[in-house]
Amino acid sequence: MRVFNFSAGPAALPESVLRQAAAEMLDWNGSGMGVMEMSHRGPEFMGIHAEALGLLRDLLGVPDGYRVLFMQGGGLGENAIVPLNLLGGNKKADFVVTGSWSKKSYKEALKYGDIRLAVDAARDGLYQGIPPAADWKLRADAAYVHVCTNETIDGVEFFFVPDTGTIPLVADMSSHILSRPTEVAKYDLIFGGAQKNIGPAGLTIVIIREEMLGRAHPLCPSVFNYATVAEHDSMYNTPPTYAIYIAGLVFKWLKAQGGLAGIEQKNIAKATLLYDYIDASGLYENRVDRACRSRMNVPFFLRDEALNEAFLKGAKARGLVQLKGHRSVGGMRASIYNAMPLAGVEALVGYMREFETLQEKVAV
Ligand SMILES: *Cc1c(COP(=O)(O)O)cnc(C)c1O
Repeated sequence: MRVFNFSAGPAALPESVLRQAAAEMLDWNGSGMGVMEMSHRGPEFMGIHAEALGLLRDLLGVPDGYRVLFMQGGGLGENAIVPLNLLGGNKKADFVVTGSWSKKSYKEALKYGDIRLAVDAARDGLYQGIPPAADWKLRADAAYVHVCTNETIDGVEFFFVPDTGTIPLVADMSSHILSRPTEVAKYDLIFGGAQKNIGPAGLTIVIIREEMLGRAHPLCPSVFNYATVAEHDSMYNTPPTYAIYIAGLVFKWLKAQGGLAGIEQKNIAKATLLYDYIDASGLYENRVDRACRSRMNVPFFLRDEALNEAFLKGAKARGLVQLKGHRSVGGMRASIYNAMPLAGVEALVGYMREFETLQEKVAV
């Protein structure tokens, strides 16, 4: 039996994608080989690669003048790869810290140059909002500004594109890329690990404005040098072939969902159902400012934390799994990425209501 899997990542994939991959496991398209067994330079895989790239460009509406790179190293790898590629001469970069992931990015970048906090949104050590962009301290000569547009652990999402003027804007979109339409042209570099909303772990997506290429530090490893990777059409070394194939199937699935505008409507419906229930309930709460509550990752707390274990146990018995919050935040977290159907959120809300009613009866 398939469960409703609320994991923050690696996360649930569309069932139809997994079924197709299973059917093609031993013999892809009459080739007599599985995708994992193919040369990355053979015509079969070159076709899979080119199709996946094209679908991604198409879904996101990536404009001319941008390169889409399929890389490895994950989001954390990019925390070093971005400064190695972009810091340039004066080595200045400013970081907008709105949660655990941007904080990690900031700390990693400190190794590479003159790195400053543009703002740290923590309130009593917790990340629950985004300070207005007008309050960020940006240096006009910074090589770039880093933001994380969906904080996976804290459940904080940007619903605006920060206007950084002429300073290049870098965004870690690991956990909400492809969840809604995105104005790629307003960013200079977008990166994301695939394992939240796209496909298997091991594939990292980078979308970069061409003018940003060619600024890498001489010690930047060639496999992580954006210009080198772009020059070789993401085939400088062996790419994560199977992950790219699965991502391609997910991109096709997304097109069938009505593209990013279509999936956004579904994501809004799921998030609204869950947040509305949480806000109306007496047992659960979400503490993030309403204007920036994530549609992908919904952290919530039981007002009586002593009930956490019982809540998780009952959820598991109903096929609702991986709901435990990140250890740094506690409580619960429901990650409801593209592949989570509305029925999964309905089942979760149904269970939360049942659990709440049970507590009320116990209290009487
Ligand atoms: C998961 C995640 C990362 C880290 O990704 P890895 O692939 O584990 O390196 C970075 N940033 C965000 C926003 C994430 O959600």
